[in-house]
Amino acid sequence: MTADYLTLNRTGDKMPIRGFGCWKIDTKDAEETIYQAIKTGYRLFDGACDYGNEVEVGRGIRKAIDEGLVKREDLFIVTKLWNTFHSKNHVRAAFDRQLKDSGLEYFDLYLIHFPVPLHYVSPADNYPPGWYVGDAKSIAFERSPIHECWAELEKLVDAKLTRNIGIANFNCQAILDLLTYARIKPAVLQIELHPYLPQERLVKWVREQDIHITAYSSFGPTSYVDLTDSGKSYTSLLEHADVKSVAEKHSVSAGQVLLRWALDREFAVIPKSVHSGRMESNLDIMNIKFDAEDNKTLDSLKTNQRFNDPMTYGFNLPLFD
Ligand code: NAD
Repeated sequence: MTADYLTLNRTGDKMPIRGFGCWKIDTKDAEETIYQAIKTGYRLFDGACDYGNEVEVGRGIRKAIDEGLVKREDLFIVTKLWNTFHSKNHVRAAFDRQLKDSGLEYFDLYLIHFPVPLHYVSPADNYPPGWYVGDAKSIAFERSPIHECWAELEKLVDAKLTRNIGIANFNCQAILDLLTYARIKPAVLQIELHPYLPQERLVKWVREQDIHITAYSSFGPTSYVDLTDSGKSYTSLLEHADVKSVAEKHSVSAGQVLLRWALDREFAVIPKSVHSGRMESNLDIMNIKFDAEDNKTLDSLKTNQRFNDPMTYGFNLPLFD
């Protein structure tokens, strides 16, 4: 049995270990999906400016609160600053827009989505702006240092607009640098983690810095089938014979095996499903217990294949090298 939450540094907030991801939830479905997810028992929601559905996600949260299903303080709402808003002149306005869109008074955790400062795009021109400015075919960097961006996030904590701050897709070098000046340490690092890409060395070091870890893309290539060649060509973890054999042995689904794999490493997980059955089963992972043979089978899947790699989206940014 694993604890159902991770205790965050500084605030001691209890972050639910089983959450719900909001990427790729269509705006027309998002309100109802989030409402149903709360009904099913999810308490952590992982959003982002970039997902383009913060208004609708917020409506789902509001509906559940208004109906008395939960109180705001029962929920743990995470969202992320997009790359085009890293400048010290733009963080606060970007955050304010997200908070207003969500209809909330505070977030529980605000993450820098990528350590990649991109040229500013006015929300009046394009929102969410994505990776490219206008019709450009390549990305345009902005001379905006992460230390200035982080100081703006720290001010959001001071103003009690977000309880915790953190980072996503940062590697060891970027975190090491951030820790040299951070007045408020990151509470969480959110990264891609699954049996193909367990990133044990990074995980161990990050833990030693008292930073908790959220695993995204627990099912490996599944979310990237429509996006990248590697997503298309790589064997799905959900269909992998070894994952399926462990699933059959424990009378659970392959998805549950992959989520339990993450919980065993004390990662929080944030799967998304708009289907009620999967929504339920993705939450029902607390009592699965692997033996040494299962762990050996799952460990043998490691190939270090990464699917959320900007290089494979068609622009030259070897972010994780
Ligand atoms: P996911 O966990 O949502 O899974 C991908 C797809 O698998 C889903 O679209 C769904 O159709 C399917 N699925 C869900 N449960 C299933 C089950 N039990 N059996 C079979 N299929 C199932 O993967 P993801 O979207 O890559 O990641 C989850 C969340 O992580 C996102 O919603 C987002 O919040 C976050 N995320 C963050 C980053 C980042 O850069 N910080 C990147 C990717 C994802």
